[in-house]
Amino acid sequence: MTRDLGIDDLPIRDELRGKSPYGAPQLDVPVQLNTNENPYELPPELVARIAERVAAAARTLNRYPDRDAVELRTELAAYLTRTGRHPVARENVWAANGSNEVIQQLLQTFGGPGRTAIGFEPSYSMHALIARGTGTGWISGPRRADFTIDTAAAERAVAEHRPDVVFITSPNNPTGTAVAAETVLALYEAAQAAKPSLVVVDEAYVEFSHRDSLLPLIEGRPNLVVSRTMSKAFGAAGLRLGYLAAHPAVVDAVQLVRLPYHLSAVTQATALAALEHTDTLLGYVEQLKAERDRLVTELRAAGFDVTESDANFIQFGTFDDSHTAWQKILDRGVLVRDNGVPGWLRVTAGTPAENDAFLEAVRALKKEQH
Ligand code: PMP
Repeated sequence: MTRDLGIDDLPIRDELRGKSPYGAPQLDVPVQLNTNENPYELPPELVARIAERVAAAARTLNRYPDRDAVELRTELAAYLTRTGRHPVARENVWAANGSNEVIQQLLQTFGGPGRTAIGFEPSYSMHALIARGTGTGWISGPRRADFTIDTAAAERAVAEHRPDVVFITSPNNPTGTAVAAETVLALYEAAQAAKPSLVVVDEAYVEFSHRDSLLPLIEGRPNLVVSRTMSKAFGAAGLRLGYLAAHPAVVDAVQLVRLPYHLSAVTQATALAALEHTDTLLGYVEQLKAERDRLVTELRAAGFDVTESDANFIQFGTFDDSHTAWQKILDRGVLVRDNGVPGWLRVTAGTPAENDAFLEAVRALKKEQH
């Protein structure tokens, strides 16, 4: 078939015209430090356990999976209770195919046509893209030059725009910046006074943070949601499992939009196996935090500016032309991320050897600049 038509020749929705899909380049280079993945493959014991659990699930694939993912939500609640300094029950937890789907379900439920969402940018670009996909208007809220959130300015933006959904990403992607509980509380109050609206704290990277999870804040705040993922700390980006913790009414509300049987039996079985190995997987988190801190130190020693990081990645710069710098690092076999923040690039903490290769590439770049 010839490609005589493009997207814009089709009768697509007006707001999608001329837009490009989300996508970090998936290039086949030796060192890939561009998508904040965990660099460690799953341990063999866990791979064996996944095979066992999936084999058991396979026998009954003639049936639809547990629509409410009861066993999985029970185990996720147990994980959050153990690590989040706050008791969480299965009724507080909902799971979907990656936290992207969790966010989509939240926007389908609380956003949508005629409604708006705000995020404090630069931040995770999918918040705005999922808003667009769900017909939710997007408002770009402010951040300081050092990438922290100016609470007063953010409160003013919420009061002015009266959004239906407020995104607070902590630690923030791509900057690595964590948000203080006081800021989240102030924005929650501002959002309730203005509308009231739903406040989503995206904690995709929280296991790597120097700060505690903001999970305890859901207590007594029915419009506050914490979203999490197994893609980062659990090293299971390929699994596609994200989840949220909130008041049970929020969990009931997303049932209105979730597709029936959205979480396959294979996904549920795999996630349950991974949760059995939580301690091993979180052991890698400690190694990655140490590598992240080493990268920060080495980048600063090499003369780069580095944004304080609470995540498994680091924003570094500054470059007159970050895209050219990105290309030069790629030419040395290391793929980092150009998130479109002028002057800055982002690198994910990899294995010690990968990080050494990255440091060598950027030191060479620095030499070239002088
Ligand atoms: N939130 C943030 C802040 C992220 O950076 C990412 C992944 N890059 C996600 C959510 C989505 O992750 P996933 O869908 O893999 O759970």
